[in-house]
Amino acid sequence: MQPYNIIKLLDLPDLIATDLLILDDVYVFIAKSKKKEWECPNCGSITDKVHDHRWQNIKDIPIRDNQVIIRIEKKRYCCDNCNSNPFNEDYTSFDKKPRGWNHI
Ligand SMILES: [Zn+2]
Repeated sequence: MQPYNIIKLLDLPDLIATDLLILDDVYVFIAKSKKKEWECPNCGSITDKVHDHRWQNIKDIPIRDNQVIIRIEKKRYCCDNCNSNPFNEDYTSFDKKPRGWNHI
């Protein structure tokens, strides 16, 4: 199964899996947001200008006794229009699963 299909299975509609690493009994999905343009929270302009990014590891519900970690490339965007502070992209996937998602 392709990683993309697996992430569909995990019900993360706004993420794309770019890779899957299997380390002993841990599945690590490398993922990023599907969305490449974001609305500036300050002025409402659409921007695709990436300021920086960091990796965030999120522990999800285990699959058949294997730990599942979703490693997301989380980007921050900046706005040319108003030069506001950089802002984070966000994911509806997080909101949908409040119980299973733990920051690690
Ligand atoms: Zn702006």
